[in-house]
Amino acid sequence: MKIWLDGGLQDSETARVSVFDHGLTVGDGIFETVKAAEGRPFALTRHLDRLARSARGLGLPEPDLDEVRRACAAVLDANPMPLGRLRITYTGGYGPLGSDRGEKGPTLVVAVGESARRPDSTAVITVPWTRNERGALTGLKTTSYAENVVALARAREQGASEALFANTVGRLCEGTGSNVFVVLDGEIHTPPVDSGCLAGITRALTVEWTGAKETDLPLDVLDSAEEVFLTSTLRDVQGVHRVDSRELPGAPGPVTAKAMRLFDEQAGDDLDP
Ligand code: PLP
Repeated sequence: MKIWLDGGLQDSETARVSVFDHGLTVGDGIFETVKAAEGRPFALTRHLDRLARSARGLGLPEPDLDEVRRACAAVLDANPMPLGRLRITYTGGYGPLGSDRGEKGPTLVVAVGESARRPDSTAVITVPWTRNERGALTGLKTTSYAENVVALARAREQGASEALFANTVGRLCEGTGSNVFVVLDGEIHTPPVDSGCLAGITRALTVEWTGAKETDLPLDVLDSAEEVFLTSTLRDVQGVHRVDSRELPGAPGPVTAKAMRLFDEQAGDDLDP
């Protein structure tokens, strides 16, 4: 597998990042996951905009987006696959032990792995832990994902593929790696970004293409919603057939199915060249 590191392609088996890299020692990094079909990245410009936004939020030097673009193209060229997931990681780089960044500057790694289309529906759980809607990292796509790892492990234990968080005031927020939508009286709603959720790219496209409303929602809306669905780069639009012990038979329901169809139709036009 060829990856991009230090300005060029390298073999993933022998590529080296310092053990003092702040991405490793203190989780001082940001990332993007970008879907690529037949070597063509999806919505790359939006992902690069968010990468730059996350870098500013973390106080990292502005990433060289031309290099990131070149790196994505080179990695996709070197590793042909039908459906891939590019992973762009950008960290505070080599530095002293402790939380001060070193002089050497950031580390950029671009890698790709195989991906596969997800099932049309899945099971989710809610977790008792909260997303902080007012934290220093809120809304940034940082590599500090351990809380998501713990929540996802809980979901797996219960036969689910995603765990949903409320925020600190009990409002519905998002999943470990996805945004959440509910259908109420036939209308689609999703929590607003100030709930503390990530401004998901699939979420934004789904809002644009379906006219979904951004609505502040209590967590227990999941007990009564007619339909629930998730959005993310790797799931696209995915129905939910179980929330904790509540079954939603027939998922994806008609509104979700329409959102899935719209997404598939429109997304074909949004592949970056
Ligand atoms: N929320 C979180 C916490 C995520 O990590 C992700 C994606 O990884 C999403 C939402 C969905 O965002 P996107 O649609 O840009 O993949």
